[in-house]
Amino acid sequence: MAQLSDDCFAFGGPMMSVDEAVAIIAARVAAVRDIETVALDQADGRILARDLAAPLPLPPFTNSAVDGYAVRGGELPREQARAFPLAGRVQAGSAAQPARAGHAVRIFTGAPMPEGTDTVFMQEDVRIDEAGRVVLPPGLKPGANVRPAGEDIPQGHVALKAGQRLRPQDVALAAAFGLTRLEVVRPLRVAVFSTGDELASPGEPRAAAQLFDSNRFMLMAMLKRLGCAVSDLGILRDERISLANGLKQVAAGHDLLLTTGGVSTGEEDHVKAAVESVGKLVLWRMAIKPGRPVAMGIIDGTPLIGLPGNPVASFVTFVHVVRPTVLALMGAPAAPPVPMPVRAAFTYKKKIGRREYVRGFLRTGEDGTLQAIKFPREGAGLLSSLVETDGLVELGETVTKVEPGDVVGFLGYADLIG
Ligand code: AMP
Ligand code: MG
Repeated sequence: MAQLSDDCFAFGGPMMSVDEAVAIIAARVAAVRDIETVALDQADGRILARDLAAPLPLPPFTNSAVDGYAVRGGELPREQARAFPLAGRVQAGSAAQPARAGHAVRIFTGAPMPEGTDTVFMQEDVRIDEAGRVVLPPGLKPGANVRPAGEDIPQGHVALKAGQRLRPQDVALAAAFGLTRLEVVRPLRVAVFSTGDELASPGEPRAAAQLFDSNRFMLMAMLKRLGCAVSDLGILRDERISLANGLKQVAAGHDLLLTTGGVSTGEEDHVKAAVESVGKLVLWRMAIKPGRPVAMGIIDGTPLIGLPGNPVASFVTFVHVVRPTVLALMGAPAAPPVPMPVRAAFTYKKKIGRREYVRGFLRTGEDGTLQAIKFPREGAGLLSSLVETDGLVELGETVTKVEPGDVVGFLGYADLIG
């Protein structure tokens, strides 16, 4: 089980920056160490548990990179074309016979180089004369068009590192090594609650003053994309004791507790008090907009992150606070998404000292540069603003205004929720 030290962070004073908060959280969570073995076709998206050293070189044997004719490097024509009689033929998947001196061997892409040869002429670059000999032009360097054994990956090289979140190309590498199974970190167990008396679950009756709970499904979907095993724990009412009991009950069985709603300072925001009554509150305010109130605490050694209820705030704080925490718990290196520089096509004023995320579309300007257009409305409750846009413009703590043409960093959704 993931453990978190529960000495309380002294809060008060200015709001904590996102980077500080994430660093505090990351320093306090201990990565899950339990390992399981999965078949290759189940390995995509999982976290590799141990370094993987190449059990064989890639390619495993020296082979031709093209269809053509293999010759000995010492016999290459230097000044003028020369005709070579043909002796032998080797295709991909066949064993090659040693080459005869003064002869060329017909060879195909991927076929092993016949012993003695080290250079291949592309078939497009040669002609066959009347006597059936292959006429090779001068000027080719010894070793041309050959893929030496191990040129891709030498045997023993650490080809994949522990903590790597496996991608399709990583799975391909394991397959190229002939492996059928990989050791990965077991999925993180994450419990998700929504909080709020105004919420009804989709499929249940909705009273006139209620809205359907959308955050829980967004958060669960994002967690699943990160490879987590998610417990859907439904909706907790706005009441401190039932909240506290609900969290306490499941803490020991999970690696992370995630809530949405109820973290502001309103009278009906009970998450903070609930955490304080059954655990320790570590921090609860962060200089991020949309977002701001984000609670972090520990209950029975299990970290809890309480996200705000407004859907856009919930999305933004998931991406910038929960995602790095999940990666830390999985033992994966921190991988902050890298903003792409684009030109702002909007004007914006902001407060110094906090980080802001502006929802936007991308378009290509007349001069060919990428531009970010701001979503016309700003409310943190507008789901349409997430559905209709391409990503978030990141405005750092020191920025106070944006003018059209300024270079800003753009984070596409595909990079944020992958
Ligand atoms: P809160 O953070 O609890 O003050 O909630 C702020 C606003 O977010 C509320 O007015 C709700 O309309 C909305 N909200 C809270 N939780 C959810 C949820 N799970 N799904 C959709 N909207 C929510
Ligand atoms: Mg609420």
